[in-house]
Amino acid sequence: KNYSQADIRQMAKDENVRFLRLMFTDLFGVIKNVEVPISQLDKLLGNKLMFDGSSIDGFVRIEESDMYLYPDLSTWMVFPWGSEHGKVARIICEVYSNDRKPFVGDPRNNLIRTLEDMKNEGFTDFNIGPEPEFFLLKLDEQGKPTTNLNDNGSYFDLAPVDLGENCRRDIVLELENMGFDVEASHHEVAPGQHEIDFKYADALTAADNIQTFKLVVKTVARKYNLHATFMPKPMDGINGSGMHLNMSLFNKDGNAFYDEDGELQLSQKAYWFLGGLLKHARSYTAVCNPIVNSYKRLVPGYEAPVYVAWSGSNRSPLIRVPSSKGLSTRFEVRSVDPAANPYLAIAAVLEAGLDGIRNKIEPEDSVDRNIYRMNIEERHEEHITDLPSTLHNALKEFEKDDVMRKALGSHIFQSFLEAKKLEWASYRQEVTQWERDQYLEMF
Ligand code: GLN
Ligand code: MG
Ligand code: MG
Ligand code: MG
Repeated sequence: KNYSQADIRQMAKDENVRFLRLMFTDLFGVIKNVEVPISQLDKLLGNKLMFDGSSIDGFVRIEESDMYLYPDLSTWMVFPWGSEHGKVARIICEVYSNDRKPFVGDPRNNLIRTLEDMKNEGFTDFNIGPEPEFFLLKLDEQGKPTTNLNDNGSYFDLAPVDLGENCRRDIVLELENMGFDVEASHHEVAPGQHEIDFKYADALTAADNIQTFKLVVKTVARKYNLHATFMPKPMDGINGSGMHLNMSLFNKDGNAFYDEDGELQLSQKAYWFLGGLLKHARSYTAVCNPIVNSYKRLVPGYEAPVYVAWSGSNRSPLIRVPSSKGLSTRFEVRSVDPAANPYLAIAAVLEAGLDGIRNKIEPEDSVDRNIYRMNIEERHEEHITDLPSTLHNALKEFEKDDVMRKALGSHIFQSFLEAKKLEWASYRQEVTQWERDQYLEMF
């Protein structure tokens, strides 16, 4: 909603808001909060609120550390969990540098920039409907998360009304109180695993929603003595957690992906966008699956994609075309996981798709057989490649793709690459229990 400054002042008064939680997101997708008392509202609305950017990972160097937070008034939302001291409202902010320009290292600013490029090419909206999955884990006596799953339920299980079910219902209620339009919520395939889907929104709002969603899920879970984790693969042997992204591109005439007469009712532009999504799949994987652990999810046997292919009928591929058409014609990219920084991931897939449209990239034919039953020769015949198998391999693909540099902007592209290389270097030095179990006695 487009709130004016006067609206914000009024709502703060009406709802007894005493604290403002100013949110932005760092390079790694972690939400940063600066909480200020309501007495700072005027300063905030006047774009005069400063913070020290050098304390944020991947942001800036010490010598340019003074930064401003410019509130995006349309993101005003009051958290439902007030205390006797009054309520807390969130406002998502744009980070501005000392010379009062949008800071290029802010992932949200970068998405805004990418969306401007999209608009210059004649589109009005990029809509995103996310499907985040997560696990609820029990806490130990010290309040630390354990790996004890809190139920034995599975997909669409309704029978055992347990802690997890109640907690999830509570999460949904809190989200609705905050104005989220929750479309579905269900137990996922793995024990202790849940999914909550909320209605699609324009890309920027969707990314903001994803960030707030994670905060709400974690906060409510605590009340139930549970820890909610969005780690992509917390447990081996069972499914990991994905965050499928449903996406569609609109122009002034409506959904640009829809064509009544097209094959699968997809337009020519939709096919080119798909061509771009497939061409750059191996390079946006680093952004959509940004941590070492992400790659433990992208393995055969757990409903997560492993190969670069698309399908209109099959549920296993990287990209799926859901059957509902018209306004809801869309692509579902199934590799993305909830550790991804949503601002960066959305910018990366958008730029990949737009590259497809600009260069009229035709996608390979769809693969409607089960790819997991095909052998390597059969996959080769169908031109099916593999997604990168490790963060290291993903970074190699990412690094050489100029479309990714364009999607993230040079500043973020470089800082992301450097930070992720360090993360890999650190992991590479670890000797794991698996190795000791395998080799200690053998050699
Ligand atoms: N958890 C699966 C994944 O890792 C998805 C399961 C599903 O939604 N069908 O992507
Ligand atoms: Mg789903
Ligand atoms: Mg799911
Ligand atoms: Mg899905």
